[in-house]
Amino acid sequence: MTRILVLNTGSSSVKYRLFDGTETVAKGLVERIGEPGGEARDHETALQRIMDQIDLTGLAAVGHRVVHGGSEFTRATIIDDTVVAAVARLVPLAPLHNPPALSGIDVARKLLPDVPQVAVFDTAFHATIPPEGVTYAIDAALAQRWGVRRYGFHGTSHAYVARRTAELLGVPVQQANVITVHLGNGASACAVQGGRSVATSMGMSPQGGLVMGTRSGDIDPAIVFHLHRVAGLSFDEVENMLTRDAGMRGLTGENDMRVVEQRMEDGDPVATLAIDVYCRRIREYVGAYLAVLGRVDAISFTAGVGEHSPIVRGRTLAGLSALGIEVDTERNERNAPVISPDGAPVAVCVVPTDEELEIAEQTRATLAASGAGRG
Ligand code: ADP
Repeated sequence: MTRILVLNTGSSSVKYRLFDGTETVAKGLVERIGEPGGEARDHETALQRIMDQIDLTGLAAVGHRVVHGGSEFTRATIIDDTVVAAVARLVPLAPLHNPPALSGIDVARKLLPDVPQVAVFDTAFHATIPPEGVTYAIDAALAQRWGVRRYGFHGTSHAYVARRTAELLGVPVQQANVITVHLGNGASACAVQGGRSVATSMGMSPQGGLVMGTRSGDIDPAIVFHLHRVAGLSFDEVENMLTRDAGMRGLTGENDMRVVEQRMEDGDPVATLAIDVYCRRIREYVGAYLAVLGRVDAISFTAGVGEHSPIVRGRTLAGLSALGIEVDTERNERNAPVISPDGAPVAVCVVPTDEELEIAEQTRATLAASGAGRG
């Protein structure tokens, strides 16, 4: 048996999916952990509940989603005490994301001491970006000392979507140049050259790049100092605003894209401007990555907004036929797998992402490569 349990442990929730091969045999979500009236007192209780619910016979490994792997982790890695210590050292770089992953790992190792556990990092896929794509033009010694560089995130999604896009086009992934655009609550774009990430929009943290549900994406760094010195906000207040109250929520008061789109359709100019800002940013990155890649075979949209919003896809890529990019209205409206017209130089695709499946496959591959797997 080759069952893999995938765990995605967040600060107040644990998502799980049990795979047998590529088949999902169980999945679920424990939410509002630690909240009054929540489903579980703490992560340990939540994971114990999950283990009690599912049939763990033949479990080959547990794959954990870990957001930040820093410079250390360039691929999925079998977890031991050294790995746990290294992920803990990265907490200052990912204060919101790495601590819950660590508690998930800790509890799962305790509850399943004989099952190999694998950490799959959101950052690892971007380890192939060349130095000029990850280096910020700031004091080099400071940057080196404090780990200030671009890491990039959503790597499992970009890797998966680039591969699926190549399958859709019927070419080996090694020969395909793809721009992947992941638009969920968090959002990022990635230039994938022959299956390897060569540029991505998120930076040292998941704050940078595209406009998101509640995060600003790229802003002029001077804005932070202006809000501190002139508007009198503390750094914590600025950080909170940029993380939780910016992006679509900052622009419209609403982070759910469906609601913003409805408001735009009802004629609300605030919602219209917000969607224009959102699409313009994606368009700027698409243009940048066309230049980085030189030749692009496909642009693929994924995640909640990318998979379901003809409005966003259509506005983002409107008027680019001179660059070989066209969107067929009817295909776009029905979220077809390929939404560009037949024969267009650049295929525009809608590819549902599956981060859990990618984590399961990387977990399996890591195990096989280590010789620890039995099949
Ligand atoms: P997460 O990053 O939490 O996994 P998802 O990938 O589920 O998020 O994406 C969530 C976003 O997708 C929300 O902003 C939601 O409004 C948006 N979304 C979902 N369905 C649609 C739709 N039919 N049209 C536009 N946006 C949608």
